[in-house]
Amino acid sequence: MSGAVEVGQGVWRLPTARFDLVNSYAFAEPDGSVTLVDAGYATSVPALTAGLAAMRKAPQDVRRLLLTHAHADHAGGAAGWAAQGAQVHAHTADAGVLETGRSPGSDRRYRLARWLERWTQATYDPVRVDVELHDGEVLDVAGGLRVVHTPGHTPGHVSLLHEPSGVLITGDVLVHVAGRLAGLSPVVCHDYPLSLRTVHALTDLDYTVAAFTHGPEIRDRARERVRARVRRQERRLHRHERRAAREAAA
Ligand SMILES: [Zn+2]
Ligand SMILES: [Zn+2]
Repeated sequence: MSGAVEVGQGVWRLPTARFDLVNSYAFAEPDGSVTLVDAGYATSVPALTAGLAAMRKAPQDVRRLLLTHAHADHAGGAAGWAAQGAQVHAHTADAGVLETGRSPGSDRRYRLARWLERWTQATYDPVRVDVELHDGEVLDVAGGLRVVHTPGHTPGHVSLLHEPSGVLITGDVLVHVAGRLAGLSPVVCHDYPLSLRTVHALTDLDYTVAAFTHGPEIRDRARERVRARVRRQERRLHRHERRAAREAAA
């Protein structure tokens, strides 16, 4: 793991697992504090501390923690950061589950999802949400961070657009692992058809770097590549809807 990668001016990716498999992000604020996006697992503190050190920051500089969604690989460490004084922000629709320390549950229309639920339902320390996020609001984070509600993976999943640097943090709606830009499998979604539909929101945004919570960023033709991927997701959605309609008619 390299401690921190600057993906845009004042925006850093902090890997919390090998091969960039899981990432948090950090914004250097004008007052010297840090806003962290996602906390990784509870065991990610040493990786995040190393990342912050590469930014010449310390854990106590983290005053705000934004959560993209309520899964253990993103919110698992949240309670620890809250305990040391970070204010926790998350979308309204995931706030309730964060406060129970559970995941929102899998899409039970899929047999494999029901079967895998025992692994995908990892619990974590509950965390109180101090500030609830809403679609379209621009947070006072490092000059302006737009909240884009992209539900489906979880009800309150958000993507985040840092307007000054042109960095889009997609969250889990798209992943870029092993050189492949991909959508999500039904087994890891709370509502799979909804996840296919809401990813469309990313195509309207203006950005130059696509950054992922799973995998390294894309700097070259990021917008075109994301748009192409979203079109594939939409074709998949149409196939999915046709199949559902046939099954309903049968
Ligand atoms: Zn997730
Ligand atoms: Zn994830």
